Amino acid sequence: MTLHTTTPDRAAAPALLEKTPLERYVAPAQPSLVGLTRAELATVLAGIGVPPAQTKMRVQQLWHWLYVRGARRFDQMTSVSKELRATLAQHYTLARPEVVAEQVSTDGTRKWLLRLPGEHAGERPHEIETVYIPDTDRGTLCLSSQVGCTLNCAFCHTGTQRLVRNLTAGEIVGQIMVARDRLGDWPGGTPPTDGLVPREGARAVTNIVMMGMGEPLYNFEAVRDALLIAADGDGLGVSKRKITLSTSGVAPNIARAGAETGVMLAVSLHAVRDALRNELVPLNRKYPIEELLEACRAYPGLSNARRITFEYVMLKGVNDSLADAKALVKLLKGIPAKINLIPFNPWPGTTYECSDWEQIETFSEVIFNAGYAAPVRTPRGRDILGACGQLKSATEKLSARERMALRAMAMTD
Ligand code: SAH
Ligand code: SF4
Repeated sequence: MTLHTTTPDRAAAPALLEKTPLERYVAPAQPSLVGLTRAELATVLAGIGVPPAQTKMRVQQLWHWLYVRGARRFDQMTSVSKELRATLAQHYTLARPEVVAEQVSTDGTRKWLLRLPGEHAGERPHEIETVYIPDTDRGTLCLSSQVGCTLNCAFCHTGTQRLVRNLTAGEIVGQIMVARDRLGDWPGGTPPTDGLVPREGARAVTNIVMMGMGEPLYNFEAVRDALLIAADGDGLGVSKRKITLSTSGVAPNIARAGAETGVMLAVSLHAVRDALRNELVPLNRKYPIEELLEACRAYPGLSNARRITFEYVMLKGVNDSLADAKALVKLLKGIPAKINLIPFNPWPGTTYECSDWEQIETFSEVIFNAGYAAPVRTPRGRDILGACGQLKSATEKLSARERMALRAMAMTD
C-alpha cells in the first residue's frame, strides 16, 4: 500500500465512495423480500401486476408484516388478499439466512452461525456469525457486514481471512430477523425457555452494533439501506441512537455514513502514532490518524450528546503505556468522544497478548481523569467466544487457557 497525503481534491469530494471491488453474490432463484427498501418493494409489486393505485397501501402492508410482525410465511399476512399472497409466494420468499448452529453462553450471550443462500460452485458455503448480548437494560445485536475482510488488522482474526464478498442489505437485515425469530422477539412470540433473555414486556433487541465480520464502510450502500430499515419507526424501530457503526477508518466514507444513516459512529483507533497504527490497522497508511480525526470532527450531527466512540484494543507492551494513554487524551481533545478500552481477545496463532488488568486500570484512570468515561467492558459469553471482530474464529477449537482469556465487548452505552 502506498502512503497518501491529504489533498484538497479528495477532501472536497464527499460523494466519492471507497468500495470493495469484489462482488460475488449469486441471487437465489426465488429471492427473499427481507431487506428490500420500500421503493424496491414497490418495484416487486409492479412486476407482479399490482396496479399503481394500490402500490403504496400494499407496500405498507408488506412492511408491517415483515418488520412489525416478523411474518415467515405469506399466508400469515391476513390483511393481504389471498390472490396477492399466492402470487407473491410463487415468485418470492420471506427467507432469512439459515441457522447452522446456535450457541448459548451461561451469561445469556448467544451466537448464531448463519449460512447465506446462493450456489457457489466448488466453494464452501458462505457463512457469517451474529451475536446477541443481553444486559439488564438492553439487548445488543452484533452484525456482520462482509464475509471476511480486506483489511488485515494485525490483531483481528477476521483480518486473516480473505474477503469472500459483501453482504446484501437483505443479509444484514436478515441477521436481525433471525435473532428476533430465535429470541421470540415478535408480538406474541415465545422467548427461549432457558430464561436467559430478559424481556419483561420489553423488546429483546434494543441496540445494534456493526462490529461483526467485515468493514461496514467498504460495503456502504448495503449497510446504509439495512440500517435505515432497522431504524424505520413503522418497522423494526431500533432508535438511530442505539445503532452504532464501527469503522477501522475509511475516512472518505465517514461523512456520507453520518449524512445518510444518522447512526452513531465508532472508530477503531487502537494507536496514537501513525507508525504503530500502520502496523496494527494497515488502512492507516492510506488514511493516517490526522486525516481520520479530521473526518471525525466533521461527522454530521456530532455533539456532546452524540459522541463518537473511539475503540482502543489493549495489547500488552504494544499500545498500553501510560504515555500512550496521555497521548490518546491529547489527540482526541476537542472531539466529543467516548473511549472504549477493549481487552484483546486472543486467537490461535496470534502473537499479541492482552494487557494485564492493572495496566488496563492505570490506562483507564488517565482517560477518566481527563474527563472521559473509560469503561472497560466486562467480557461476555466467554464460554462460547462470541466476541465481535473475531466472530467466525469462534468456531475453531481453542485451548482451555485461550478460552479463559479476556474477550472484547466494546458495546454501546
Ligand atoms: N471492521 C470494523 C468493524 C468490525 S471489528 C472495525 O474494524 O471497526 C469490531 C471491533 O473489534 C473493532 O474495534 C476491532 O478493532 C475489534 N477487534 C477485532 N479483533 C479483536 C480482538 N481479537 N480483540 C479485541 N478486539 C478486536
Ligand atoms: Fe477488518 Fe475490522 Fe478486523 Fe480490521 S478489525 S480486519 S477492519 S474486521
